[in-house]
Amino acid sequence: MSCVASFLEPGNKPVTVIRLAIVGLGKIAKDQHIPAIAATPGIELVAVASRHASIEGTAHFATLDELLANGPAIDAVALCTPPQVRRAQAAASLRAGKHVLLEKPPGATISELTPLISAARQSGKTLFATWHSRFAPAVEPARALLADRQIKSVAVEWKEDVRVWHPGQSWIWEPGGFGVFDPGINALSIMTRILPRPFFLNAAELSFPSNRAAPIAANLDFSDATGLPIRAEFDFRQSGPQSWDITVVTDDGVLTLSGGGSRLDHDGRSLVDEKPEEYRAIYRRFVELMANGVSDVDMSPQVHVADAFLIGRRLEVEPFEDDAA
Ligand code: NAP
Repeated sequence: MSCVASFLEPGNKPVTVIRLAIVGLGKIAKDQHIPAIAATPGIELVAVASRHASIEGTAHFATLDELLANGPAIDAVALCTPPQVRRAQAAASLRAGKHVLLEKPPGATISELTPLISAARQSGKTLFATWHSRFAPAVEPARALLADRQIKSVAVEWKEDVRVWHPGQSWIWEPGGFGVFDPGINALSIMTRILPRPFFLNAAELSFPSNRAAPIAANLDFSDATGLPIRAEFDFRQSGPQSWDITVVTDDGVLTLSGGGSRLDHDGRSLVDEKPEEYRAIYRRFVELMANGVSDVDMSPQVHVADAFLIGRRLEVEPFEDDAA
């Protein structure tokens, strides 16, 4: 690992502190990364690369290149930019000998991840492709409960109002922005974690607004080697109650994972209902990965998105205008 600031904690055990820079100071960086970094031992925010924003008291650079050339010493970067620009930023950071945390989805394509994985291996640095929804409190309990039950069907409803959650985020509608799969991939990251067998896409319908390059809704039919029916509906046009729910019918009742993975019910009885602290868990894991000199990159959620673009039937729907853009 590169040289990092050190101090002695009570008991004289040396502690290393990873000096981190955030790249892209948008919604997720401000809402989640900054407070999670502040709450995580072993890592501190020392610099920011952002074209439009800064944090008082933290070194600021307009671009990652300027930060790498002229900034304070850093050990790692957290790339909180849109997927379309992240590969080049990850490659430059690894070349400069930094550990890299990637927001989800890890890239705009799948193939671009392979050279990044190789670069991380060659430089001995950590590449961490985060899937924040997997760190939601009910996900691991759901996985454990499903491991020894017979599953009869799975139904996923991931429906939110894009105007509320992604106002002005024009990148989401561009190629590589994923449209409704930007949140939908969170459901896929949970499904690939909790279901006991690999599953695959049989058919899909993707609804593209006539003025946009990415889908606003998707209906997906998956199954696994046993023929398990898995149906997912993603929609960006949801008004009223929002749903981020996965319902699994088993031989021992119905498990409902709701609130994006924060609640778990079994036949209506609550098993888990906790405030999600996904990003604190993400940074604890990042610190652990860097300390152990290993990477963590799982592309399986993104493989399903790519399959949907490969075999999905394309429907044209009414144009989408973003009032905030
Ligand atoms: P956002 O609010 O649009 O912020 C992204 C930031 O990246 C922008 O503020 C901008 O920062 C920078 N950026 C945008 N376009 C760029 C470009 N072409 N080149 C360089 N930098 C660019 O988006 P976000 O919601 O934070 O999402 C960012 C990533 O986090 C996405 O992959 C998203 O899926 C993921 N994510 C978002 C959420 C959420 O709730 N919003 C949750 C989990 C994960 P500067 O102006 O500072 O340069």
